Amino acid sequence: MGSNNAPMSKDSLDIGIRYIKGVGEAREKLMIKLGIHTLRDLVGYFPRAYEDRTVIKNIGSLIIGESVCVRAMVADTPRLSHIRKGLDLVKLRAVDEHGSLEITFFNQPFVKDALKQGETYIFYGKVSGSLLRPEMSNPVFEKDRGTTQDNPRHLTDPTYTGRIIPIYPLTAGLSQKMLMNAVRSGLDKCADELPDVLPDSIVTQYKLCRARYAYANIHFPADMKELDIARRRLIFEELFVLVTAMKLLREKRVDKTGRSLAIPDFDIFYAVFPFEPTGAQKRAITEASQDMASGRPMNRLIQGDVGSGKTLIAAACCWMTWRSGSQSAFMAPTEILAKQHYNSLSALLEPLGMRVGLLTGSMTVKGKRETYERLSLGEIDLIVGTHALISESVSFNDLALVITDEQHRFGVNQRSLLTEKGDSPHVLVMSATPIPRTLALIIYGDLDVSIVDEMPPGRQVIQTHIVTENHRKRVYGFIRKLVGEGRQVYVICPMVEEEDTLESDARQGDGTLKSVKDYHEILSKEVFPDLRVELVHGKMPSKKKDAAMSAFANGEADILVATTVVEVGVDVPNAALIIIENADRFGLSQLHQLRGRVGRGEFESHCILFQTEGKTDEPSPCLSTGQMNRPPVLLTTASERLNVMKSTNDGFKIAEEDLRLRGPGDFFGSRQHGLPEMHIANFATDMFVLNQAQNAAENLLREDPELSSPGNKKLLEQIERLFEINADKMN
Ligand code: ADP
Ligand code: MG
Repeated sequence: MGSNNAPMSKDSLDIGIRYIKGVGEAREKLMIKLGIHTLRDLVGYFPRAYEDRTVIKNIGSLIIGESVCVRAMVADTPRLSHIRKGLDLVKLRAVDEHGSLEITFFNQPFVKDALKQGETYIFYGKVSGSLLRPEMSNPVFEKDRGTTQDNPRHLTDPTYTGRIIPIYPLTAGLSQKMLMNAVRSGLDKCADELPDVLPDSIVTQYKLCRARYAYANIHFPADMKELDIARRRLIFEELFVLVTAMKLLREKRVDKTGRSLAIPDFDIFYAVFPFEPTGAQKRAITEASQDMASGRPMNRLIQGDVGSGKTLIAAACCWMTWRSGSQSAFMAPTEILAKQHYNSLSALLEPLGMRVGLLTGSMTVKGKRETYERLSLGEIDLIVGTHALISESVSFNDLALVITDEQHRFGVNQRSLLTEKGDSPHVLVMSATPIPRTLALIIYGDLDVSIVDEMPPGRQVIQTHIVTENHRKRVYGFIRKLVGEGRQVYVICPMVEEEDTLESDARQGDGTLKSVKDYHEILSKEVFPDLRVELVHGKMPSKKKDAAMSAFANGEADILVATTVVEVGVDVPNAALIIIENADRFGLSQLHQLRGRVGRGEFESHCILFQTEGKTDEPSPCLSTGQMNRPPVLLTTASERLNVMKSTNDGFKIAEEDLRLRGPGDFFGSRQHGLPEMHIANFATDMFVLNQAQNAAENLLREDPELSSPGNKKLLEQIERLFEINADKMN
């Protein structure tokens, strides 16, 4: 599929934007900066928001502060005055039958000649002044052409007022007007060739509008209803193409051959496990074992909340591999995690006769060399380690299973370096970052997903408390009490070092952003001089980091002051309290991960969230596409968000809330999720459409698995285009 097959058919949509009316060399350069190279890119460059300029009011009914259109006649000759260097004013008075409006233009001297006394214009701007003497500064204006019945609006009619105006993401030197006009000419040029990539049957079944209508109205909607119809079609299309592409990709993998391992009787395995496995664990083990027996390489993601017992699933797969006489490798992102996994996996598997080894960077040269040798001779059945495992010196006798933990910490590259050490080994990826199922299926594209959505019985419910600065003394008292009882405490700060604090954010009243180093100083020297307080943050050399973590894990420290580096699966069962400073700085999913550091042992555990008081998110000033006809997602207060943490311990629920409250951009943060960029669809708010698109894709591929029928030609081309653009991400 993709570039090495027959060349993609080029059509007129692939012409450069230079051939579009009004786009010269200079503008072409600017538009290329925005990623607009071709006519197709141009018409697919969707507005990020809209400004509703449909309302035309008379001067008598203006409201101060509102942005509105006014149809009025210029009553006097516009006066240009030069106030000082760099400040020119053009002033004029406009009137209608209800009153008069004072209009001022700053530094737009040309307006003096553009506006003629006695002519009627539509002005769009924000009303200021007073009701008796309303004013407008720098309004957008254009000659009134009387957009009424006998002069209906036409798409190519360049009006900037009296209608809904698209607002595009811009770059310096390119104005809204320029882009708007370019899009208009672009639409004119290709109106009849707009790619209707959706098969007719799907358009009919899901009651979607045609591409032509959709493109026209997404840019220049006549009203909000038309805009919504257009949006729905384009969102559906974008998601549908993506989902179909992912399914094709998966099919491609399924065609590969891998090794077929025999499915053993897992009861033998379960018998040595001290607990009864949960239903979710058993299900995941069954799914993975079937993959490994199938004759095709397994590529499965195990997604389960912290503490859901993913280690057992990994162990079962290693055991199955061993029963077939082959080796397994388990890679963890840090030394400390590798050691923890080594401990728990060897405890599970050695009693069954397996030989488990450990390989980390900090081992002695001699120790490493010995391990290399035993691995290549097949004397180790399961090797647990850090990325030391992908070192060139490592070779296996017969590597059949590769497991990586906390997958987002590894690049796809690192994973494949490890799999290359075997002969198409099976791959199991474990992630403790719960995301909603529908999303997981898409994000992990060509991975099969097992969801471990059941906790082992008797799990501690972590008590979550939201507090403010006023409670600090009591919180410190609580720390002292728990440490007195022999427990350990995490204190988490969002920032690493002073230099990292954003200037405007750095110090706000009492709810200061705690610099983790300073805070460690204060806690260890002033507040708890008698306790053992360790510090760990991401900017420390990894040796020091591991030393501090190990000290805490071994019970040699009472309090660990840390940044989010402790987020990843560290297991200290004696830790019964986690305090999170500036909790509103974190995303919910991240808070949940952090909270999962406690409640891992027999002790009642608590999570205390410090909230910066009265801090709310800024509401977005204009109607953004993501918000239209939906509750404004950004208007949640910090406390509302934190309350979600208080109300549930379920990572999947929290993930859904997080996604809903913050939108996918923030949800995924800077993390590479390997998905192509979406132009209009929003994974958080468009879940319903996503479901529809998924069903539609499934049905279509059942009928035409290779999309070879003529009716699906455009769709196939679009998918090929997607693969071509995202070749690096999707292969
Ligand atoms: P995860 O890696 O998913 O965060 P772990 O595999 O580390 O979780 O398991 C967390 C804890 O739960 C471990 O102490 C493990 O022994 C225990 N555990 C796992 N499965 C079960 C079960 N079925 N019943 C009781 N305890 C379990
Ligand atoms: Mg784990």
